[in-house]
Amino acid sequence: MQSLQLTHTLSFGLDIQTGSGDDLQTGCLEARRIRNEVNRLDKEGWEWDDIKSPVVDNATHVKNTSQLIVEKALGEIETYHDHKDDDWGRPYPYIDGLYPMVMNHGEGYRVFVEDGDTVRFRISSEPYNHVKGKLRGSPDHFDRLRTAFTDDEWRVGTAEVVHKHDEWRLHVTVTHEHHRVANKTDADTVVGADVNEDCIALAAMGRDGDIQDSVVFEYPSVKEQRHEFFTKRKRMQKAKQTSCEAVVQTEERDYVHDCLHKVSRQVVEWVSQFSAPVVVFEDLKDMRDSLDYGTRMNRRLHSLPFAALQDMVSYKAAWDGIPCAEVDPEYTSQRCPRTECQHTERANRHKKRFRCVECRFQDHADRKAAVCVVQEWFDQQHENVPSLETLPRVKKVRRAASGRGGATDSHGALFASGVDRHGTSAQPSQGAREELKSVASTV
Ligand SMILES: [Zn+2]
Repeated sequence: MQSLQLTHTLSFGLDIQTGSGDDLQTGCLEARRIRNEVNRLDKEGWEWDDIKSPVVDNATHVKNTSQLIVEKALGEIETYHDHKDDDWGRPYPYIDGLYPMVMNHGEGYRVFVEDGDTVRFRISSEPYNHVKGKLRGSPDHFDRLRTAFTDDEWRVGTAEVVHKHDEWRLHVTVTHEHHRVANKTDADTVVGADVNEDCIALAAMGRDGDIQDSVVFEYPSVKEQRHEFFTKRKRMQKAKQTSCEAVVQTEERDYVHDCLHKVSRQVVEWVSQFSAPVVVFEDLKDMRDSLDYGTRMNRRLHSLPFAALQDMVSYKAAWDGIPCAEVDPEYTSQRCPRTECQHTERANRHKKRFRCVECRFQDHADRKAAVCVVQEWFDQQHENVPSLETLPRVKKVRRAASGRGGATDSHGALFASGVDRHGTSAQPSQGAREELKSVASTV
């Protein structure tokens, strides 16, 4: 067992009883002023450490709240510097919408349980101006919040006031200080993951070398929507409609985030069926260098879903006590998985089809890559790579968009028609388990 610190964000609606939404609006406008001031000074070339105290001293918020807002704004600039090679845009120097108020529990805000079912809040929109009322939310989020109050291992952390979907909401973070996650090396089942622009393929192998099951979760709508958003933004850049562009960027991020969030939950659910699993990904730092990115657009389109989906899966897995690991991705997409063959050549792969030019073994290219990730893991653990005899048939589960133009709704409507295509075999003539050797001799 290893111990990790894990933070979860709970989302609640606000039923305001004392004060009003106008007070929260005032607080978020002040947060925006702070945020814009940080960006202005950064642009003028100030050192970040020098920016903090004058901005905080001039702000009207509770001091601690002002500090947290400054840190959030600086964090965004830092993220931009970390990712500018991927063509991430610099934060807009001036935003004219609202900016979240970020607050410490017990200082800028407080939540407390009142006689059983009711959870009350108090938010300081300004030092002596409190907005009070009751929280509204899902039973699950209320349970987690109550646990955070009663369990010593939990802590209620910062919260943000946001205005979303025409209502005021409070996003509260709760942190588990010592979350237990199994050791990677104790795993009974090694689950290889191959993350792509339009799908994630998983293959679960026991230590005896038997592939117990595999699945491909497809999300072609993410790829399509990202292309659409990208084109839309380019058009706006040409027309110099920068404020619309910012909205489109947010829509894109919300849409992609929401979809990947759902996919990652399915992934972790699928992984949980196996005995003592470890999820193994390809190391993205290496992968970025090895992919054939054509244009900057391609690079921009590729980078986000890979990293975001891996993060989300790792995070959700950790909540379930499941560890994750990474391996060097070299040649996992080109190598033949047959123990006897292992032939590695670019020509083995043609889009979604893998066909070994040496032994003629065929498979779904991404599922096969997931199998190779597992083999790579055994190899890098200096364990014998189990000899691979059979592969189960390829199962696909698809998340489909219900139609065009609905991208602004990031809350599920797009997935209303999500189709599950269980049991679709990439090699329809084969049985449930395909003998690799017979595949090799009959094709
Ligand atoms: Zn081969």
